[in-house]
Amino acid sequence: MTSRERRIADFIEAFRVEPGSKIRLSRDFDPAFRGTIHSKKEGRRLLAEGIDLLAEYQTRLYAQHTHGVLVVLQALDAAGKDGTIRHVMTGVNPQGVSVHSFKVPSSKELEHDYLWRYGLQLPGRGEIGIFNRSHYEEVLVVRVHPELLERQRLPRSARGKGIWRHRFHEINEWERTLSRNGIKIVKLFLNLSKEEQRTRFLRRIDLPDHNWKFSAADVREREYWSDYQRAFSKVLSRTSTEWAPWYVIPADRKWYARIAAGAVIANALMEIDPRFPTIDSDARKALLEVKNALEAQAPKGAAADPFEAG
Ligand code: ATP
Ligand code: MG
Repeated sequence: MTSRERRIADFIEAFRVEPGSKIRLSRDFDPAFRGTIHSKKEGRRLLAEGIDLLAEYQTRLYAQHTHGVLVVLQALDAAGKDGTIRHVMTGVNPQGVSVHSFKVPSSKELEHDYLWRYGLQLPGRGEIGIFNRSHYEEVLVVRVHPELLERQRLPRSARGKGIWRHRFHEINEWERTLSRNGIKIVKLFLNLSKEEQRTRFLRRIDLPDHNWKFSAADVREREYWSDYQRAFSKVLSRTSTEWAPWYVIPADRKWYARIAAGAVIANALMEIDPRFPTIDSDARKALLEVKNALEAQAPKGAAADPFEAG
């Protein structure tokens, strides 16, 4: 491990939800936390470093084509999901990245089991896929608004008392299957304070260029703040696993949230440690034959092979 890699691994430790621990968001995580990074300027430098690292690893991930990375982003409204995606993924090759936003399920989606639509959007080998909202909505918004569960037309046996316990278990097992088969899952919860959400909503009202982002529905949803905090606390407690741990990203400062999210994703890639494929001696020999043929075609005065060292 290089010193840069060690620094990143140490930095993200504070955000990790220890599998098996019982979390209460308000007690255990501070949305305004900024650890030892004191200035935005220092933050920007770190973010740039993280972005370089991500780009470097993504190239190798793509070349190796064995692992994929699924980034799961969950948050309350105005926590900065879109901005985080935009900033963190700036350096990567768009060909290897996909973003999918999950909205209220369509009637076609409701014809299927609750995990169906998420499975359809998973990243393939070599790819980074981002879920902007995810299967966790099924144990968050659906839990906070029981009428959404009604629309899922579940058989009576699947609607009973143990439904959330069962869903946590099913989600954990689904993620275990994916991770065993090469899809690494990175789960980020952008943790915003109620007061910071209030000021961000006001900003969207006050600044004309931001009006388009304002939604009265978001303000109505704010009335369920404490229900969401409880639901998130349960999700974090029950679905942070060794194979797919949750990271709680302090989101009151946008610049800090971006560094933290970038670091967690970079760390996941470091853990995969993808390598450029190497070739065996037969393939090497074949390459050399082609090289000789190409060198023989050099026009008069041109170097036979301008890339050859020396
Ligand atoms: P933005 O507002 O920045 O565009 P967003 O993610 O808030 O992003 P919206 O279209 O405003 O997008 O909201 C999507 C809505 O869909 C959210 O309120 C979310 O809770 C809801 N939703 C997502 N998944 C489900 C689901 N499985 N069941 C019910 N509602 C869901
Ligand atoms: Mg919204």
